Amino acid sequence: MHEFEALIVGAGGAGLYAALEASRAAKTAVISKVHPMRSHTGAAQGGIGAALGNNEEDRPEWHAFDTIKGGDYLVDQEAAFILAEDAVRAVYDLEKRGLPFSRTEQGRIDQRRFGGHTRNFGEAAVRRSCYAADRTGHMILQTLYQQCIKNEVSFYDEFQVLDVVIENRKVAGLVALELATGRLHVFRAKAILFATGGFGQMFRTTSNAFANTGDGPAVLLRRGVPLQDMEFFQFHPTGIRGMGILITEGVRGEGGILRNRKAERFMERYAPTLLDLAPRDMVSRAIMEEIRAGDGIRGDRKINDFVHLDATHLGKEVIEAKLPDIADFCRTYLGLDPADAPIPVQPTAHYAMGGIPTDNDGRVLADGSGALIEGLYAAGECACVSVHGANRLGTNSLVDLVVYGRRAGQDIARYVEGTDFPALEKEPEAEARRLVETLTTGSGPHGAVIREEMKDLMMEKVGIYRSEEPMRQAVSEIRALRDRYREVRAQDRSKRYNTDLLEIFELGNLLDLALVTAASAANRTESRGAHAREDFPERDDESWLKHTMARLDEQEVSIDFRPVDVSRFEPKPRAY
Ligand SMILES: Cc1cc2nc3c(=O)[nH]c(=O)nc-3n(C[C@H](O)[C@H](O)[C@H](O)COP(=O)(O)OP(=O)(O)OC[C@H]3O[C@@H](n4cnc5c(N)ncnc54)[C@H](O)[C@@H]3O)c2cc1C
Repeated sequence: MHEFEALIVGAGGAGLYAALEASRAAKTAVISKVHPMRSHTGAAQGGIGAALGNNEEDRPEWHAFDTIKGGDYLVDQEAAFILAEDAVRAVYDLEKRGLPFSRTEQGRIDQRRFGGHTRNFGEAAVRRSCYAADRTGHMILQTLYQQCIKNEVSFYDEFQVLDVVIENRKVAGLVALELATGRLHVFRAKAILFATGGFGQMFRTTSNAFANTGDGPAVLLRRGVPLQDMEFFQFHPTGIRGMGILITEGVRGEGGILRNRKAERFMERYAPTLLDLAPRDMVSRAIMEEIRAGDGIRGDRKINDFVHLDATHLGKEVIEAKLPDIADFCRTYLGLDPADAPIPVQPTAHYAMGGIPTDNDGRVLADGSGALIEGLYAAGECACVSVHGANRLGTNSLVDLVVYGRRAGQDIARYVEGTDFPALEKEPEAEARRLVETLTTGSGPHGAVIREEMKDLMMEKVGIYRSEEPMRQAVSEIRALRDRYREVRAQDRSKRYNTDLLEIFELGNLLDLALVTAASAANRTESRGAHAREDFPERDDESWLKHTMARLDEQEVSIDFRPVDVSRFEPKPRAY
């Protein structure tokens, strides 16, 4: 049994920034299932968006507008303004804390172009992404971790949270399994923040780390917290073909061009103004259209057709200076040098726009009315503020982490001061213990087959293009997989480092989130942002300008709604 005023679950950018702020006033611990430096934030390549205007004129208001339009108007607009305005301060703050940004010749933080980021409300692409070569996330993580150590935040590395205690809409503690020993630990707390990252592992082809299994949203869902806008999952246009490993949008930001098998710059036909730098949902669909029309480059039995990302004209010097890791990936995984040959790419499941609903201070909402669960917070990719709406712009996740991670941390610092430790039920670990016992008693199949089937069906039936019949099938097939899942048992029965056991727990989480995603998607009969329905190709503001709030009860997903804040810009059709 441990006791902390503030508990942060997750040591990515969002968790570490929140810990930094909370630890100013509260005794704070960070619990992370992987070592903090292995959090997925460390894989972020392209950059962090902020209207510094270092290379050309730029304004936070333009950034906010792009975010709202890019999100196909499902964005909560006040939240987007906070994001864009605070981004500028956040980037300078990271600089002062020691983040080694790439520089202009004058010594200012350098900025590059990124999809959907424009000047003067859509006129042309603007240089807004601040970057440290193609290792921006790695540098953010290093910087924040150092600062947390300096502030004496306690770290529980390789502890995996299995359950959370919420009583009478108030959070009281959580239960975690220590990987090294297999022991269960109970943590009592006044405030708990979930910053557990994304869940791209529910799809066959993904850019996401193996650990991105949505534990936070799934644990809360089982404790009655609704999840918002789960139907919106972003496919990034440029994953390495057949593997999904990300090739950053920064390649196109530096001037890279997408080409089909005829070597045509096909984006000219889909987004005449922004071309290759249109938002990701549009570029991913454009690639799929080319492939459907037979203009993709032929794959083989194992690899579907793909397109080329051509960076050869940038020259070796620019590529090695600004995109060194990308060049390395291409050499390692494809045996080619991007300075000599185009990179074969396909869309890859990348980012969860939906997640745990919060207000602008990271406080978790109990339902569509705005009621709160006291002491419970969420930030980063697992949360839904919502600043990304139906489609996130590149570079806006890293901003989200530091802006909303910070705001949540500050609110926690305020909250714990006026609050006593809540009473904790008698055996808070009972549910987690039952789970571990079930999975390690008797015999049963391992979960690998179920995992593979889930990934395939999500990719095929709830992927880039969607329609009624396949999604209904997906819902019933996931239910069947969840039934089979009950039979699954850990094959490894040891106490120490039982990753087999924890992977089964993660599979359960992915299945729950897959069911909610498929059901939410089947329910929304319009196309908006990343949710592209072939049977309902138009956006329908009249009926669908609202957030989905989904709950899960056994095999049933029930859906409610929440209004969208459209207080600043009137929704308009999207064109780029
Ligand atoms: C390859 C790649 C490149 C990207 N590039 C960019 C970019 O250039 N710009 C941009 O803005 N965005 C980018 N993104 C998106 C962005 O990096 C992520 O959305 C963001 O880093 C998520 O941060 P986070 O703090 O929410 O979670 P993460 O960094 O994913 O961290 C999650 C943390 O939660 C912990 N955790 C999870 N479950 C548990 C559990 N059960 N118990 C205990 N701990 C748990 C993990 O240990 C980890 O510490 C990229 C994403 C990918 C995959």
